[in-house]
Amino acid sequence: MLELKGITKEYVTGAETVKALKGVSLAFRPSEFVAILGPSGCGKTTMLNIMGGLDQYTSGDLVIGGVSTKKYRDADWDAYRNDTIGFVFQSYNLISHQSVLANVELALTLSGVSAGERRRRAVEALEQVGLGDQINKKPAEMSGGQVQRVAIARALINDPDIILADEPTGALDTETSTQVMDILKDISTRKLVIMVTHNPEIANKYATRVIRLTDGKITSDSNPFVPAAAPSAAVSRRARGRKNKSMSMKTALQLSMNNLMTKKARTFLTAFAGSIGIIGIALILSVSNGFQKYIDKLEEDTLSSYPLTIQTETADMTSMISAFAANVQDTEGEASGDKVHEQQIMTDLLASVGTNDLAAFKKRVDSNIGTIGKWFNAYDYTYGLSVNVYSTDMKYGPLRVSPGSIMQSYMSGFQQSNFSMMNTDVFFRMMDNEELLKTQYKVLAGKWPEKYNELLLVLDSEDQLNDYIVYTLGLRDPQELKDMINDVIEGKDVENTNDQLEWTYDDFIGKEFALVHVCDTFKRNSEYDVWEDMSEDEEYMEDLIKKSEKLHISGIVCAKEKSGANAMDSGIGYLPIL
Ligand code: ADP
Ligand code: MG
Repeated sequence: MLELKGITKEYVTGAETVKALKGVSLAFRPSEFVAILGPSGCGKTTMLNIMGGLDQYTSGDLVIGGVSTKKYRDADWDAYRNDTIGFVFQSYNLISHQSVLANVELALTLSGVSAGERRRRAVEALEQVGLGDQINKKPAEMSGGQVQRVAIARALINDPDIILADEPTGALDTETSTQVMDILKDISTRKLVIMVTHNPEIANKYATRVIRLTDGKITSDSNPFVPAAAPSAAVSRRARGRKNKSMSMKTALQLSMNNLMTKKARTFLTAFAGSIGIIGIALILSVSNGFQKYIDKLEEDTLSSYPLTIQTETADMTSMISAFAANVQDTEGEASGDKVHEQQIMTDLLASVGTNDLAAFKKRVDSNIGTIGKWFNAYDYTYGLSVNVYSTDMKYGPLRVSPGSIMQSYMSGFQQSNFSMMNTDVFFRMMDNEELLKTQYKVLAGKWPEKYNELLLVLDSEDQLNDYIVYTLGLRDPQELKDMINDVIEGKDVENTNDQLEWTYDDFIGKEFALVHVCDTFKRNSEYDVWEDMSEDEEYMEDLIKKSEKLHISGIVCAKEKSGANAMDSGIGYLPIL
């Protein structure tokens, strides 16, 4: 899975060139405990950093899952570091004023995992290193050995295939070293653990393979590994940093209903908190790991996902906050006998709701674009409407795909609310700024939609479509998903059968949907002289879907940079003109 081929590394400092690695060739087994042993300055850290994608080699090749990394782009390295590698450093790199749990959770914060799931996985990782009962302690309140175990838990949280540890016991005494080594030894039964050390005793006692490095070259290898013939292209393509990051729907269901909802911030408050949160985390990363270049880009990306929004209805939150404060003050010290006063919080808040004149605002922005345009990349107007679209494939009966119908019965009440953070729609209106979208997305097949009846399929990545979309579009029987949800609600276990489906791009290009006008789903009932809602009448709907105007997918895209926040989530986009 991991192979170094004649790797060299040169550091140029001023006039001097240091040859830290002078042609290292090595291959590793999928699980083993490797110790890289050598004196200080021989190139151990350099080698580890190169294997982990933290540093670039000067020449040679690093082969990951049978694929050369010579053509790796930044996004590939990011994915490799995120999905495949867990690092354990000599200096623990923990944040001292935060709890152990928070430190471990932080490693997941950027990977789009929900808060509940983050917590569950962090606790599980801490249990694995025997610290399940210490999760609320701060690093300063723990012994060196315990702190290093926290660092190992942090490295484990993404369930990486490879753990890289740089002198993990360098700062520990013999006894605490033992605890740490026992844990690494245990992990090495399931994963590849590569540990750098200058301590031969530790290397010989725990490792299943000891490799000696002297002056940038390998001088001995106690248990060399020669990989079998190169894996097939299909296998290696998967391995190339594209491990499925999103959980399968069934796992997600077992964990939390929240995971069903795609996260799209709708309200001012969540958008605000979201942008602060992400930029804040980027700052921490940049300080602790040197990810400087991330910052500028993240600010830009964050605003694509969480743009500043101005809505027609606006409530003055400050009035609510000051109402609270004032009420507290008012009542202080003057409890008047047997009287109870009403606190008018809702009333004040609702009375503060005003209406923004968005038409005038749009006019002002449009006519002053020359002067104010330099302050933003893009702006867009949206309307609180969604299209009413049905699948034309009647395999599972008339199936409404937009607004998504599967989650409808579980979401009643939430769905229509403007303040809902949960968005179960797979169809979304694309931003009215094709140029910006085209900088963030690449076309994988077909073409960018041009006409109102053309749709764009946005994939999670070049070869992934999440199963919520699969169910919503009727590519799988939506009843399966409903059954799973009902099982979870009834407290039954849901089994993960892992029967992944596959399609080709051609299966989607040209795929048709029917645009059904809501008014047409009503039929005049002359007997009672009323309009009757026919949307539950299969026969009527099938006929209506056949007669309705068709939309079709004209192109398939995915985000150019998987790690960045982008302006479209996966799903099916339609043009504003529709
Ligand atoms: P080890 O971890 O085995 O102690 P390193 O991999 O840290 O050794 O360093 C190997 C050699 O490369 C040393 O001579 C060191 O001075 C040099 N070196 C390491 N990092 C850099 C750097 N960023 N710039 C210049 N020289 C470096
Ligand atoms: Mg070192």
